[in-house]
Amino acid sequence: MFGRAPKKSDNTRYYEILGVSKNAAQDDLKKAYKKAAIKNHPDKGGDPEKFKELAQAYEVLSDPEKREIYDQYGEDALKEGMGGGGGGGHDPFDIFSSFFGGGGGPFGGGSSRGRRQRRGEDVVHPLKVSLEDLYSGTSKKLSLSRNALCSKCNGKGSKSGASMKCAGCQGTGMKVSIRHLGPSMIQQMQHACNECKGTGETINDKDRCPQCKGEKVVQEKKVLEVIVEKGMQNGQKITFPGEADEAPDTVTGDIVFVLQQKEHPKFKRKAEDLFVEHTLSLTEALCGFQYVLAHLDGRQLLIKSNPGEVIKPDSYKAINDEGMPLYQRPFMKGNLYIHFTVDFPESLSLDQVKALEAVLPPKPSSQLTDMELDECEETTLNDVNMEEESRRKQQQAQQEAYDEDDDMPGGAQRVQCAQQ
Ligand SMILES: [Zn+2]
Ligand SMILES: [Zn+2]
Repeated sequence: MFGRAPKKSDNTRYYEILGVSKNAAQDDLKKAYKKAAIKNHPDKGGDPEKFKELAQAYEVLSDPEKREIYDQYGEDALKEGMGGGGGGGHDPFDIFSSFFGGGGGPFGGGSSRGRRQRRGEDVVHPLKVSLEDLYSGTSKKLSLSRNALCSKCNGKGSKSGASMKCAGCQGTGMKVSIRHLGPSMIQQMQHACNECKGTGETINDKDRCPQCKGEKVVQEKKVLEVIVEKGMQNGQKITFPGEADEAPDTVTGDIVFVLQQKEHPKFKRKAEDLFVEHTLSLTEALCGFQYVLAHLDGRQLLIKSNPGEVIKPDSYKAINDEGMPLYQRPFMKGNLYIHFTVDFPESLSLDQVKALEAVLPPKPSSQLTDMELDECEETTLNDVNMEEESRRKQQQAQQEAYDEDDDMPGGAQRVQCAQQ
């Protein structure tokens, strides 16, 4: 493979980095790496360079083939490409997370910059649906635009696939700025590097991919068909896994539609039941009624009272199995409840009163004698709106409390506190 024998170079540094002896067993290597990597993880304020070195050292020494080459010829031999794959190495975060499983590692969320398997954000869209949609089911086609990995460069951003360490941030992706807040106070702030947008790498102008201009991603239009199933609920999520914005070295997030049921003018829904209001005239409430209710799927339901039945104000009647279909069991349905309000006449003529008294059940007879009546005091029944009455009383109480406050010494101060 090589015309010349690789010359001997440093073959102890990797052992020193991990702090193990030259004849350390695999288990010792593992333990040493794990301990040092946790301590030096950039998420915990560790030095990214040191962290990278640890991964490099571990990657080589944990592979018997590479370790042999390293022991025999040193670091340079691996860099020159011996041992297949060479010492260019894998992402140090990959090696790290292989110890702890998943992209999150031991420090939770995958938001950290630089980690290979970080997860892209989910994109959440509200999706307005009518109650009719949720009753009968429907499908909606939605056109969305998203970032997709550039097909020309496979998300590398360059023609050659190469990238350089960003000069602005030395490849860390972060910059630290210092703000002077006062003569003896400074604030240190860390933010994503503006030159490389936090990626830590830049691409040579000549090497830039012509399709994505080195951005690695291009805008793409995508049509998603959202199936709204019978019986779905307000707030229910419909997920399209891996359809959110693509980015290099990132597990693509999901597009999530959250159903938002529009208010219905007639029906209210509570879980699988439907509620509808109906107002009856007093005559209907007493003497019977029938009317047509158009259901959510357009069917005409005939609603009628039983002969001789009286409907009381603020009462309910139920129609079984005319509520919402159950999600994923649409042949089963909840109930439809009708809430009745009875419209009483404002007043009656004396003739009407007489006629009604003749047919309605008799009044409870008064047990009072004339003598007892003489001892009673006359009263007047006034019209009243109880809601308004209690609101007025509350306002009055508040005003009084405020006035009292004002009279007290230091009252002004208390008012000020209350405003904060
Ligand atoms: Zn940078
Ligand atoms: Zn490209």
